[in-house]
Amino acid sequence: MIKKTSISSKILIAMALGLLSGSVINVFFNDVTWVQSYLVDGLFYVIGAAFINALKMLVVPLVTFSLICGVCGIGDISILDRIGVKAFVLYILTTGVAIVLALLIAIIVAPGRGFERAATASSFTPTPAPPLTDVLINIVPSNPVNAFAEGNMLQIIFFVIVFAIAMLMCGNIGRELNQLAEKLNEVIMKVVTLVMDVAPVGVFFLMAKTFSEQGFGLIVPMIGYFSCVIAALLLHTFGTFSLLLIFFAKLNPLIFIKKMRSVHIFAFSTASSNATIPITLQAVEQRLGVNNATAAFTIPLGATVNMDGTAIMQGVATVFIANVYAINLGLADYVTVVGMSILASIGTAGVPGVGLIMLAMVFNQVGLPVEGIGLILGVDRLLDMLRTVVNVTGDAVVTCIVARSENELDDSIFNDPEAGVINDVELPHTHVAKHSRL
Ligand code: ASP
Repeated sequence: MIKKTSISSKILIAMALGLLSGSVINVFFNDVTWVQSYLVDGLFYVIGAAFINALKMLVVPLVTFSLICGVCGIGDISILDRIGVKAFVLYILTTGVAIVLALLIAIIVAPGRGFERAATASSFTPTPAPPLTDVLINIVPSNPVNAFAEGNMLQIIFFVIVFAIAMLMCGNIGRELNQLAEKLNEVIMKVVTLVMDVAPVGVFFLMAKTFSEQGFGLIVPMIGYFSCVIAALLLHTFGTFSLLLIFFAKLNPLIFIKKMRSVHIFAFSTASSNATIPITLQAVEQRLGVNNATAAFTIPLGATVNMDGTAIMQGVATVFIANVYAINLGLADYVTVVGMSILASIGTAGVPGVGLIMLAMVFNQVGLPVEGIGLILGVDRLLDMLRTVVNVTGDAVVTCIVARSENELDDSIFNDPEAGVINDVELPHTHVAKHSRL
């Protein structure tokens, strides 16, 4: 009997093949013009970018309908408040732990000592990071249509929650509208599975493009910095997250990691927590068993405000650049770095490369030369892919903890290895309506 390959195994194979083809092109065909213009900048770029667009296309409608169902499913504004506060506090705490861990590892290993600064002339021009006051003011959209058009996640979350609360207050009209939102949510979830069907192709081309441009050669001179970031990412994922899952979510971390595989692959190949939202939502609800009422709120929120992996990169980068420029950082500076990284991760969306923009803000605050960022630019794409995996894992971990505390986690789904697996068969019915309390 031929065993059906699940879509995430297919994507995994496509990812490995893309990585391999890209690396081969990088080593052997770097100077061959037609390969670069027709393959790398042609075919690879077009299909990869179209695939990312297909993912992004799902984010706004999915978050909107899912969040309406979520808020109406909760049915009680005070519970919504509680979930919001819990998720937000946990997001901040986990990011705090991540950056402290990164700083400790970087201080012990001291990457960048004896690094030849002059050898790598830097050409980084920082994009100014948004001031905190603007970040706060801009949570409230002055024009919701604009917020939806631009995909501004915090503004969308704010507007949809207010809208859904108003629906709850409207009685019958709200109930009817919610039924419609549930149907639309069901359909858009189906679109997610359609996009997943073509994902192996999209992921192959994304990988091939990235690795034909980047290659692995760039990593060698940066090995100290690179391995410190990786060590901290691994420690946070397998240490902090596992402990949180065991003690607060009462879940087996091994099952959790296994069930997050497709989310990890998407986060890695797109380097964007935002673009991964549809996949994270699907996995957290249908594979891990979190009720839509919690996940619809915490996952999009996490994609925007929670970036543990990014904070880790920033911690290590700060110590690395300080070492390279022989600048001594004191305890007060480290405390500033922790605070700034947390604030920076709240105010910026999960899109590729945004971590570097936020790093400029951190450097400014502790008086490190911002052009130092030029030194780590070369390896940033690969690290971006890796830290995005940690970012989305953090979102799912916090979601599980909040769901457990609210009694909104279905252990039978979590423990069922087949739950929510997308083969070539029907996806199980989402469990939105079941919990709706309207
Ligand atoms: N790419 C990351 C994300 O989307 C953010 C970053 O670190 O640049 O989560």
